Amino acid sequence: MSTVAARLAAVRERISQACAKAGRNPHEVKILAVTKTHPAAMVEEAVAAGVDAIGENRVQEAAVKRPAVRLDTSWHLVGPLQRNKAKKAIELFDVIATVDRVALADTLEQFLAARHKVMPVMVEVNLGREPQKSGALEEDVQPLVAHILQRCPHLELTGLLTVPPYHPDPERSRPYFRRLRELAQHLAARWHVKPLELSMGMSEDFWVAVEEGATWVRLGRALFGERR
Ligand SMILES: *Cc1c(COP(=O)(O)O)cnc(C)c1O
Repeated sequence: MSTVAARLAAVRERISQACAKAGRNPHEVKILAVTKTHPAAMVEEAVAAGVDAIGENRVQEAAVKRPAVRLDTSWHLVGPLQRNKAKKAIELFDVIATVDRVALADTLEQFLAARHKVMPVMVEVNLGREPQKSGALEEDVQPLVAHILQRCPHLELTGLLTVPPYHPDPERSRPYFRRLRELAQHLAARWHVKPLELSMGMSEDFWVAVEEGATWVRLGRALFGERR
């Protein structure tokens, strides 16, 4: 078994325990392997080990890496997106998980419409209101979601993503995960859309996120070790 496969098995075990605690089915939780800084060979190892999709946080890095990966998988953009890279991003990624403002949604819509292509997107929410982080502020989520649903027919809203403020104690992330779940439930009820995916939880707090309803956990170090 490869190192990545062994780490993935340990992660899945931990997810199963969190699901048991929360009365959830572990099959509801998908694993996004975040491969930033790691080479194409590592992506292939992760795909071969059975992760559900690959996450990258920079368009330029994915542009080099994706063509070098021979195994078929789905690629999610999980880092901030500038509008001048939107065209490249829709060529490279299968999911844009960091839509956080109307102007970006409009730019994506324009390029996707020109290609007659519909793309799954998630809205990133900056629940901790950290100025250095991307993501829509909570009060801006409702209007952004309304805009996507009403004005962007080529964007398929599939979920919400958040990165809570960093704290070494994973329990400190729990209120943010809970808040994202409540926000998603509220939006789905308000707009009569199917339940939204919840992309939340990273290497240091993913089991807490699973207890709070995560359907995607985004893992780098838990699968690949420390980044250099
Ligand atoms: C790097 C990154 C991750 C993974 O972080 P780890 O702590 O290595 O698991 C998850 N989400 C985003 C948005 C990231 O940039």
